[in-house]
Amino acid sequence: MTACKSRARLNWALGAALVLLGPRPSQAWSLLTHRAINRMAAFSVPREMYPWYGYAGLLGELASGPDFWKSADPLEGPRHYINLETYGRTDHLPLEPVDGGVGQIHWVILQLQHRLEQAFRSGDPELTVRLAAAQGHYVSDAHMPLHTTVNFNGWQTGNDGIHGLWEDEMALRAGREGFPVRQAAAAVEDVWQVIEQEIVTAYGRAPAIMRADDKARRMHERETDAYYATLWQETAPLFREQVNAATRTLASLWYTAWVKAGRPAIAPPPAFVSTDSIHLAAPDLPPDQTQPLPRPNWVLPALLLLAGLLLLVLGIKRPRHPASKKPRLL
Ligand SMILES: [Zn+2]
Repeated sequence: MTACKSRARLNWALGAALVLLGPRPSQAWSLLTHRAINRMAAFSVPREMYPWYGYAGLLGELASGPDFWKSADPLEGPRHYINLETYGRTDHLPLEPVDGGVGQIHWVILQLQHRLEQAFRSGDPELTVRLAAAQGHYVSDAHMPLHTTVNFNGWQTGNDGIHGLWEDEMALRAGREGFPVRQAAAAVEDVWQVIEQEIVTAYGRAPAIMRADDKARRMHERETDAYYATLWQETAPLFREQVNAATRTLASLWYTAWVKAGRPAIAPPPAFVSTDSIHLAAPDLPPDQTQPLPRPNWVLPALLLLAGLLLLVLGIKRPRHPASKKPRLL
């Protein structure tokens, strides 16, 4: 889709994409978790940025967009993970984008930080919310431990399939119990250091998820209610800490971008927002793509009709002027 869509259409588009794509190998937090993190992060920025609270709904609706961009953009996938073992170090991230299966989540978060700062400065609410929502997606993925390791689906440790079971099905069953709570965000001096620290921390927590799966499977048949209950029991604190950390990091990055942009006034949320990939579209969309759909222009025809009727009426009622009579020729 290229044109701007209303929020109703946005909901429809995401819903339709979900239905069309159907069950897929899980590659991200569930829609529910992404939405909850983006929404709560909007409420977690410091009070001086309070107009941003009004963006919470929109940021939540747009939160899973990057997962749907994968089908049209082969470059999208690596933006959702980093494989620290492939890079060769698990305590440090590459400062430049690297290929070869390492992934680029760290890089895209930093890149979006710069673009978001520019968008705040330019005062374009549509672009700002699209960039912020997408950054929210990547920040959330970066806090999901299984997005930081080559053993992302448990193949190396006999936990095949754990990725989707943990972040999708278990999270959906947990529902609100797995939602983040309001965090205290603050401006950060060194954005890169924060990204690196959070990803390294997430990486260190992946083995705990494998151990929880081992334990739940020893006690119950996999994918049963009892299995999920045990998996949740074993990892609920870890799960909550990671979604809360994602919320805190995200709110801090948004706040930092706004502060660095000079604390500009925040306009009310736009009525129309594109669901296109922010990586494909130029950062500054042409004006015709950011305007609401034009309403049918009935004013001019109505005025012409009215004027015509008036002339007709005046013409009928107009008394003949004596002077208009032609003088009789003698
Ligand atoms: Zn993702």
